[in-house]
Amino acid sequence: MASYFEEMGWEPLQEGQAPNHFLHLARLMQDMNMFEELGIDKNLPPPASAAAIASLPDVTIQKSSVQCPICLKEFDTGLQVKEMPCKHIFHSECILPWLSKTNSCPLCRYELPTDNETYELYKAEQIRAKEREKDLENLHNSMFS
Ligand SMILES: [Zn+2]
Ligand SMILES: [Zn+2]
Repeated sequence: MASYFEEMGWEPLQEGQAPNHFLHLARLMQDMNMFEELGIDKNLPPPASAAAIASLPDVTIQKSSVQCPICLKEFDTGLQVKEMPCKHIFHSECILPWLSKTNSCPLCRYELPTDNETYELYKAEQIRAKEREKDLENLHNSMFS
């Protein structure tokens, strides 16, 4: 009889290997369609965490010629603006209300961490699903090329 692990396509843990409960839970929730039930919306991720917002650095505009992507006004020279980790810059009064609704950069969708545990699980599972796809592709390529 196939073991539970084989049935699920999981490798049993090697000696000295700790189970990753976080990813395990994420996988289970994905399999059970729980993310959809919990209202995870792919198009509008939850707000950025307060800590992530607070840690965005202020940068000073050296030379005005760049526009704020949200309000489309040129930044004034000497103005302090918020820089996202993706290096996009915004007026703080423009980006802060945005990040209180969703965690991603309005320009490139770079995602800040959120306080939403369910969403963080969802994201981890998305990354793993992509890696699994890549693994399968590599396997396929190595078998058929
Ligand atoms: Zn602005
Ligand atoms: Zn960006």
